[in-house]
Amino acid sequence: MRSFTYERAGTPADAARMVASDPGARFLAGGTNLLDLMKLEVETPTHLVDVQDLKLDRIEPTDAGGLRIGAFVSNTALASDERVRRDYGVLSRAIVAGASGQLRNKATTAGNLLQRTRCPYFYDTNQPCNKRNPGSGCAAIGGYSRQLAVIGSSGSCIATYPGDMAVAMRVLDATVETVKADGKTRSIPIGTFHTLPGSTPERDNVLDHGELITAVTLPRPVGGTHVYRKVRDRASYAFALVSVAAIVQRDGSGRAAFGGVAHRPWRVEAAEAAMPRGAANMAKAVFAGARPTDDNAFKIPLATRTLAAVIAEVKP
Ligand SMILES: Cc1cc2nc3c(=O)[nH]c(=O)nc-3n(C[C@H](O)[C@H](O)[C@H](O)COP(=O)(O)OP(=O)(O)OC[C@H]3O[C@@H](n4cnc5c(N)ncnc54)[C@H](O)[C@@H]3O)c2cc1C
Ligand code: SF4
Repeated sequence: MRSFTYERAGTPADAARMVASDPGARFLAGGTNLLDLMKLEVETPTHLVDVQDLKLDRIEPTDAGGLRIGAFVSNTALASDERVRRDYGVLSRAIVAGASGQLRNKATTAGNLLQRTRCPYFYDTNQPCNKRNPGSGCAAIGGYSRQLAVIGSSGSCIATYPGDMAVAMRVLDATVETVKADGKTRSIPIGTFHTLPGSTPERDNVLDHGELITAVTLPRPVGGTHVYRKVRDRASYAFALVSVAAIVQRDGSGRAAFGGVAHRPWRVEAAEAAMPRGAANMAKAVFAGARPTDDNAFKIPLATRTLAAVIAEVKP
């Protein structure tokens, strides 16, 4: 690991200013992703700004009848919150499907949203990777791509967003709240927060350098049955090959977002009208335009069957 300096910020605005004023600076939350990447020299920040003292660790009701989740709320605290378990079960289930108990105790809401891809070539600094080193090429294209994207990819990058929590937040229509160094705040719908790789795969999301996530808000609960189903190579401690976060109502209508298939949680709202007509109908619209590789073409039938299992699970 390369040497770096460390500082603790006292307020969100100070934290944003400290990082914005230094191109080599990064926020440090639970450290469970950033420190791993630093050890491998995939990320080489020169200055870390610790956000643990910012008092962003509360879950509070909003005036609109939803919940405001502080950026520093741990994954464990969020998944076990009584209100989340009762009204946003898909979120609780998605979080506990990820990582391990110890990691979830440390991992934070903002850090989880911002975790980086698990593409094996991104982690191997001997390999070309446009995300790690823009312009160097993409070793995954024509390489080993079993875990990688089947839709929304580009000629520059076919990586997936690896997380579980954000897939549930996508189906819940969450909003990401931020503050910048000049004190300006933004509310970013989760559907536009994570980006597709296009010609700038080094970007994972729309945040500017030094823009601090302060909270994630959830709208008023929508009822229905909440399911998160994750398919992976082993029963625990593995990232999704495919996952489905779904909320299904008694009349068979509902919403579903997919993990493990694209550079961001994948949800096609226009396809959801087809849910009452069955998984095959809906998945056809969700995966229209997919461009899988020979290694990962299995993910489309796998996602279709996983959706079918979810729909079957909630049928009375
Ligand atoms: C072995 C292992 C298995 C895992 N398995 C899974 C899994 O199955 N499913 C899953 O979803 N995840 C999994 N994870 C990932 C884990 O969930 C993430 O590492 C964790 O959520 C990151 O949170 P953190 O607070 O530790 O982030 P950090 O590592 O501290 O930060 C991550 C990134 O977010 C930035 N950041 C942090 N806070 C803010 C903020 N408030 N505003 C702006 N930027 C910020 C940091 O600068 C950094 O770039 C696994 C991790 C490991 C190590
Ligand atoms: S798929 Fe993306 S992350 Fe993986 S090697 Fe290619 S550019 Fe890098």
